[in-house]
Amino acid sequence: ESEKIGKIENRILVFVRLRPMGKKEKEAGSRCCVKIVNRREVYLTEFASENDYLRLNRLRGRHFTFDASFPDSATQQEVYSTTTSELVEAVLQGRNGSVFCYGATGAGKTYTMLGTMENPGVMVLAIKDLFSKIRQRSFDGNHEVHLSYLEVYNETVRDLLSPGRPLVLREDKQGIVAAGLTQYRAYSTDEVMALLQQGNQNRTTEPTRVNETSSRSHAILQVVVEYRVRDGAMNVINRVGKLSLIDLAGSERALATDQRTVRSLEGANINRSLLALSSCINALVEGKKHIPYRNSKLTQLLKDSLGGTCNTVMIANISPSHLSFGETQNTLHWADRAKEI
Ligand code: ADP
Ligand code: MG
Repeated sequence: ESEKIGKIENRILVFVRLRPMGKKEKEAGSRCCVKIVNRREVYLTEFASENDYLRLNRLRGRHFTFDASFPDSATQQEVYSTTTSELVEAVLQGRNGSVFCYGATGAGKTYTMLGTMENPGVMVLAIKDLFSKIRQRSFDGNHEVHLSYLEVYNETVRDLLSPGRPLVLREDKQGIVAAGLTQYRAYSTDEVMALLQQGNQNRTTEPTRVNETSSRSHAILQVVVEYRVRDGAMNVINRVGKLSLIDLAGSERALATDQRTVRSLEGANINRSLLALSSCINALVEGKKHIPYRNSKLTQLLKDSLGGTCNTVMIANISPSHLSFGETQNTLHWADRAKEI
C-alpha cells in the first residue's frame, strides 16, 4: 500500500474523463470527435474549423496519453477508485492531497466532483471511503473528520456551508486560512451528500441565469483528518492530513497554456484565479524556484496542496461533441502540460 503511494509522490497525475453526448448536443447535430483508446489515450480528430465535421473521416487526428482516460461509460466509482482512493489512504497517514477538475463549462466537472443523489461523485465517494477506512482501524486511535466548503468567485471567498459575508484570508501557523470558515464535524456519509448539495446551491449564480451556477465560480471542499492517540487525560494529535477537492471555474475564457499568453490576458475580464493556477503550474513545470501563489485567492488557499510533497491529481473533463472541439483541444493541451510537473 505505502509503496503505491510513494509512486505518486512529487508528480501530478493527470486523467481525462469524456462525458456522454448530451441531449441538446444530439439535437444540434453533434458529431463525436473524441475517442478513448486502451483506457489511456485520447484520440482527438483535428478540425480546421468547426464546419469541417463533414470531412470527419478524412481528417487527421492527434493522440494524447494520460495516466488514465475514462470513456463516457466509466462509472463514478471507477473514476473515484482510479484517481482519488490512494489520496484518501495518504491523508489517513497525515499527508496532503488535492484533486482538481478542469474543463470548459458543461464538460462534466461538477458531475465528476459532486455528482447526483443517484450517482454521487468523487467528493462523496472519498468521504464514504474515508469513513469506512476509519471504521476498519478505529481500534488504534481516534480520528476526527472536519469538512469545509468554500467558493472563490471574482476574487471573493465565501463559506458555502454558512453563506454570509465574504471571508478574509489570513496567514497563520498552518498556512493561509479563511478566517471564520465553518469547520463541520462529520460523523457519517449520509449527512454529507445533502450538506454538499446544499452547499453547491449556495454557489454564486449569474444574475441572468438564476438557477445555474456561475461558470466563474471555484468550489473547494477540504476534508481534514486528525488522528489522535490518547495519552492519559491529554489528547495528543498525532497526524493531520488534508484532502482538497476542487471544482474549478469553466476554462473557456482562460485557455492560455504558455506564460506570455497568460500575461497578455491579465487585465481582460477573465478569471484571475484560474490564470494564476495556470501560472503556478507553468512555473512548476519549468522548475522555477518562485511559484506565484500570491497572485490569486485560489492559489493562496491551495499553496500547501500544489507541488512540493503534496499528491496532486488533475481530472480534465471533455465533451465528445465537435461543437466543443476548440475547448476540448485547449483542455487536452493544458492537461498534457500539467503532466510534466
Ligand atoms: P460543468 O460542471 O463542467 O459545467 P456539469 O458537471 O454540470 O458540467 O455537466 C453538464 C451536464 O452533463 C450535466 O447535466 C451533467 O449531469 C451531465 N454530465 C456530465 N458528465 C456526465 C457523465 N459522466 N455522465 C452522465 N451525465 C453527465
Ligand atoms: Mg459546474
